[in-house]
Amino acid sequence: MSNESLASLLKEERRFAPPAALAAEANVTAEAYEQARADRLGFWATQARRLSWETEPTQVLDWSDPPFAKWFADGRLNVAYNCVDRHVENGHGDRVALHFEGEPGDTRSLTYADLQREVSKAAHALTELGVQAGDRVAIYLPMIPEAVVSMLACARIGAPHSVVFGGFSADALATRIHDADARVVITADGGYRRGKPSPLKPAVDEALTRPGTENVRSVLVVRRTGQEDLAWTEGRDVWWHDLVDRQPEQHTPQAFDAEHPLFILYTSGTTGKPKGILHTTGGYLTQTSYTHHAVFDLKPESDVFWCTADVGWVTGHSYIVYGPLSNGATEVLYEGTPDTPHQGRWWEIVQKYGVTILYTAPTAIRAAMKWGDDIPAKFDLSSLRVLGSVGEPINPEAWVWYRKHIGADATPVVDTWWQTETGSIMISPLPGVTEAKPGSAQVPLPGIAATVVDDEGNEVPDGAGGYLVLTEPWPSMLRTIWGDDQRYRDTYWSRFAGRYFAGDGAKKDEDGDIWLLGRVDDVMLVSGHNISTTEVESALVSHPKVAEAAVVGAKDPQTTQAICAFVILRGGQEQGADEAGLVEELRAHVAKQLGPIAKPKRILPVSELPKTRSGKIMRRLLRDVAENRALGDVTTLTDASVMDLIQAKLPAAP
Ligand code: ATP
Ligand code: MG
Repeated sequence: MSNESLASLLKEERRFAPPAALAAEANVTAEAYEQARADRLGFWATQARRLSWETEPTQVLDWSDPPFAKWFADGRLNVAYNCVDRHVENGHGDRVALHFEGEPGDTRSLTYADLQREVSKAAHALTELGVQAGDRVAIYLPMIPEAVVSMLACARIGAPHSVVFGGFSADALATRIHDADARVVITADGGYRRGKPSPLKPAVDEALTRPGTENVRSVLVVRRTGQEDLAWTEGRDVWWHDLVDRQPEQHTPQAFDAEHPLFILYTSGTTGKPKGILHTTGGYLTQTSYTHHAVFDLKPESDVFWCTADVGWVTGHSYIVYGPLSNGATEVLYEGTPDTPHQGRWWEIVQKYGVTILYTAPTAIRAAMKWGDDIPAKFDLSSLRVLGSVGEPINPEAWVWYRKHIGADATPVVDTWWQTETGSIMISPLPGVTEAKPGSAQVPLPGIAATVVDDEGNEVPDGAGGYLVLTEPWPSMLRTIWGDDQRYRDTYWSRFAGRYFAGDGAKKDEDGDIWLLGRVDDVMLVSGHNISTTEVESALVSHPKVAEAAVVGAKDPQTTQAICAFVILRGGQEQGADEAGLVEELRAHVAKQLGPIAKPKRILPVSELPKTRSGKIMRRLLRDVAENRALGDVTTLTDASVMDLIQAKLPAAP
């Protein structure tokens, strides 16, 4: 970014107070902010007591060697015991932990007692395969209960897992196996995706032919699709049902140090080569547990929680596995895509299980908007009481649509900002406390310190924009980048001394609330003004004909960069008919919303946008298109053919 702070153009006046009934019963009230302000470390020490420790910690934060933090360092605990066994011991063994819904419609419900048996057997099985505390285990599975069981089994024996998203290629898997030096891979023959079985094991076989993966001695294979002629390496490959099913159902969990590594997880790769983020045990579980309780207002006896993320992303780690299970929640685990076999599948699942809390991503909300309001309207969604969003800035219009069409115009929507690196939610409204503003993550959670600074690192005044920084260490913070302490320092702690640089642009509004403005790399420079891609996108999405927009700055001889927008029109809107007229209408609309400086030079209606496999828009590829360049790295792109479609739409070079 240049010296001028990010221009903040968007004015959003709509406000939504928490429903009175929810506020009256809320798990967390405004008092929590006061308590945390008065004694931040004391506040986290209290939250750590949500967990069962074998040895209670007497220390809170050790920040004597920054940026390498230790939290609760003299405490000892077992994560799987906290997520499973203690709920059984507390009399909740019959409570459903997971309602599994397979894409073909097969279902399985696991109670906490079932989960305890499954995790215990899997822990014995890993031990039989020679896995010891500290050994890394790669997990490459579809969204089936064995994915959750495998993660908890690893945690139970102190073997850090590295979950690799099941949609990744053999190459991506091989690099991650190599980087973490994994000893065992847990996979399946395949999973169901878009109505058909999609093989997984062949990618493992291929990955294990690559240099650097030689230390993998066993591959544990779940039978999911029953695929025939599966290649099999004797002595290395073993069926889950052969090995796990014959293990004892009881397993004594051993406690580990609070700073024992829990997992390595690679970031989504939106901005470049993924980083292997290391999370540890006590602090991570404390903050995932607390944030899940506070942000979603979870009542374990009555709520049915559903986080639609894949366990291959951090959202799945923290809000499918560790947060909800440490809180004894009942949750839904869905294997497939939202539009298989029909575009109402998610809403059908909400109705079927009586989901009360739904946590999803803006990309999914915008897809539902594009498919049409009539689809969710066909289902009974009245069980829902809290809605959450994560992954990208949510356009105010998508936020309002989500509340109106999914949340009966009544439920709070919590826009949660966080990253793989932060481990848990950091900035978010609280559903029973905060008067919500569509499109804003608003306030750091109790115990979290965040602000917005300018190029020199000075805090910006209310009403101005700059860079988002975290000013104090937090319990679930990453401890390092696996095997690369220097890259950890350089990436996060060198831009602003003593503060964590998140890589995102943000502004503070007149009330001091935080609005995320997109990645710093995506900010545009137009005629001397820094303009946020997010704000121009939100202005476009506020037009009734637009469902989704991606904006980039393309090199321009007159204005340094020119704003170039790619838009997807809402369901039912004709494309092509009067495209030129619509483009003019949209340009005028943005100019009216944000001012003439933000008026896009070009707008191209397209049918798809390039996304990462976690569903985020990859603007750098659109920039390549807009500047008529060869495309950069497309390995984390969901569907490379999207780029051909977009390039074909493009008129000759401007
Ligand atoms: P990489 O770091 O490899 O480029 P990534 O940043 O997409 O990938 P994640 O850790 O999955 O990987 O995503 C975190 C990022 O997602 C944040 O830094 C931010 O840019 C964006 N993000 C997440 N939640 C929100 C939110 N509620 N509002 C705005 N942006 C969000
Ligand atoms: Mg990132």
